[in-house]
Amino acid sequence: MKVMKFGGTSVGKPERMHQVAQLITKSNEPTIVVLSALSGTTNALVGIGESMAAGNREEAKQKIDTLEAHYKQFIPDLVKTTAAQTKAQQIVGEHFEFLNIILKISFSEALSKDILAQGELLSTKLFSVYLEEQGIAHSLLPALEFMSIDIHEEPQISSIRPKLNALLEQHKDKKLFITQGYICRNARGEVDNLKRGGSDYTASLVAAAAQASVCEIWTDIDGMHNNDPRVVKKTVAIEQLSFEEAAELAYFGAKILHPTCIWPAQQEKVPVKLLNTMQPEAAGTVITQEAGSVGVKAVAAKDGIISINIKSSRMLLAYGFLRKIFEVFEKYRTPIDMITTSEVAVSVTIDSGQHLKAIVKELEPFGAIEVETDLTIISVVGNEIAQTQDILSKLFDALTPVPVRMVSYGGSKHNVSILVPSSYKTQTLQLLNTGLFGLE
Ligand code: ADP
Ligand code: ASP
Ligand code: MG
Repeated sequence: MKVMKFGGTSVGKPERMHQVAQLITKSNEPTIVVLSALSGTTNALVGIGESMAAGNREEAKQKIDTLEAHYKQFIPDLVKTTAAQTKAQQIVGEHFEFLNIILKISFSEALSKDILAQGELLSTKLFSVYLEEQGIAHSLLPALEFMSIDIHEEPQISSIRPKLNALLEQHKDKKLFITQGYICRNARGEVDNLKRGGSDYTASLVAAAAQASVCEIWTDIDGMHNNDPRVVKKTVAIEQLSFEEAAELAYFGAKILHPTCIWPAQQEKVPVKLLNTMQPEAAGTVITQEAGSVGVKAVAAKDGIISINIKSSRMLLAYGFLRKIFEVFEKYRTPIDMITTSEVAVSVTIDSGQHLKAIVKELEPFGAIEVETDLTIISVVGNEIAQTQDILSKLFDALTPVPVRMVSYGGSKHNVSILVPSSYKTQTLQLLNTGLFGLE
């Protein structure tokens, strides 16, 4: 079994869907295809939810109508026969009728998840109509019947696997399966999702659950690049990464991968390939156990970071102090990204301000608290970089003009991270591109 995931831009135009159909039928290996929503759809659905949450039904209605018009226009270029067009229009009609019904119901968090799920439901159903028109045998596997998260909103391979296998068993006569990325059911049985960019996570979870031979992530760029191509002009694709390196890059902001999508593939040792739908012959990036080479591979940036500094003269000599601090973050289920300590102070960073007030309140008895927002973690990732000669001197030479707030070095063999004000992000990424990679 192989898994192929196609992102929003890869299915965002009728001709792209046609191309996807070619790519998924090239090999004879049984394949599970994971699709995202058409590009722009999830953003539009978020907008519809926001208008409803704000009680602005008229605005929500306008947004629904605009999105529906987009889908209606999509169909004539996707399929040609009257039968297929009628079927596709019917699908679009049903999903937009659902959105229009929701418009009349009082808004809730659970309802917003139902709205968000429409994107992947639409893309997979429309793609299925196209495959049918082309006479390509396949089955639709409803993700809501096998993809789930537990009470901590975390997916478990052990609960996904039996449900997926049972569904595959029902379609033994088929070799091609289409399913929705991103969407799942939560512990209450409601429709939920794996957070933005979550289709990558679906793909990796499906690949792990099915013990696939490979998990291919098809997107709009030829693999993981050494730097953020949205910020820096000259970037190059990386041939090979280890799971650890890829996980660090994804977690620390390389948008090409969902932040936590590597662990399932890593756990089941399924190689991950990052490939370009627009340039299928390009080598892309291979992610396996082996790193391939030693040294710096890439830098990534993660925005929206908050630092919390706790200063106390009574602090570090007292054992148990750090535990008490960490317990506060554990209580609010808020992960810490970076940490530095000195004799009298400890600084940590978090990437969510959701419980900031409560956390600060509970930390106050331990010392003086200072909070700084609008920070960015810049991570330098590579194999054994902590042991690579000159990495720190090169890093600090490159960063002379940047007011670095924190440095994390040595915690991971694959990562050196620095914390900078977000206003310095572009400059920092550019300086590192020149200083570490010799690129303009
Ligand atoms: P998809 O819709 O296929 O999931 P995404 O937009 O989520 O695609 O991810 C691909 C995008 O990630 C690229 O177009 C690129 O702009 C961005 N990106 C950010 N950092 C990197 C990086 N280090 N390497 C490659 N792409 C990156
Ligand atoms: N459609 C979802 C999003 O835009 C999931 C994904 O594309 O990975 O976030
Ligand atoms: Mg993505």
